[in-house]
Amino acid sequence: MLQEELSNLYKLQEMQNRFELLKQRLKNHPESKDLYRLKKDADEMETRLQEKNKRIHILEKELHQMERIIDDSYSSIKQVDQRIYSGQVTTVKELKILEEKRKTAHLKVEEYEEKALMIMEELDYLKTSLPQEVELANQKKAQYKEKQLKIKQEIDKIKTELDLLQIQLQQLEASISPELLEKFYKIKRFKRNPVALISDGKCSGCMVEVSVMVALEAKQYKTIVCCENCGRILV
Ligand SMILES: [Zn+2]
Repeated sequence: MLQEELSNLYKLQEMQNRFELLKQRLKNHPESKDLYRLKKDADEMETRLQEKNKRIHILEKELHQMERIIDDSYSSIKQVDQRIYSGQVTTVKELKILEEKRKTAHLKVEEYEEKALMIMEELDYLKTSLPQEVELANQKKAQYKEKQLKIKQEIDKIKTELDLLQIQLQQLEASISPELLEKFYKIKRFKRNPVALISDGKCSGCMVEVSVMVALEAKQYKTIVCCENCGRILV
């Protein structure tokens, strides 16, 4: 009877240790740091992409405005030329004014064509590198989702095991006498693993040799026997 109780007490101890380990793992999953890093990377990539898209949008708008300015300047050059070659200009003064106007429009065209070219180059660069970056960001996002799912599955598994252990622990406790349990929890307050095995003549709790008499008594299972050195219950 005592032998069975002691054996159950040892099982209880093992199960409690497993329970604590799982609870710890639930609280602080070993891969949660990886998950955090993946999320951070994915978010950063997404932000960079958004900024890039915003820049592309701004540049396209600017380019459009410049093209309009260039078109307008060409129109005004055309108008000036028409006026000059119409034969209606009679004064040198008006001719000078028209030529000045044409010169200004030409300069404007040059200036804006140069600016537009620079914008086109930047747009070209941004648009060329964009697909690859989108691909990379999607990969990172997928990695994050995959890891998140994996951890969720593991956590669910741990929770299921914890629920099962809880029931088994209650059943085991019910099969052990209150006196023995009381002793067990009393020792547990000060020492880890209150139940120790005698292995190679030593207490597995403190690794100190057990006297022959104590070892013999423990084997008889007539009474609860404790280690003379550390006080653990010997099985
Ligand atoms: Zn001991």
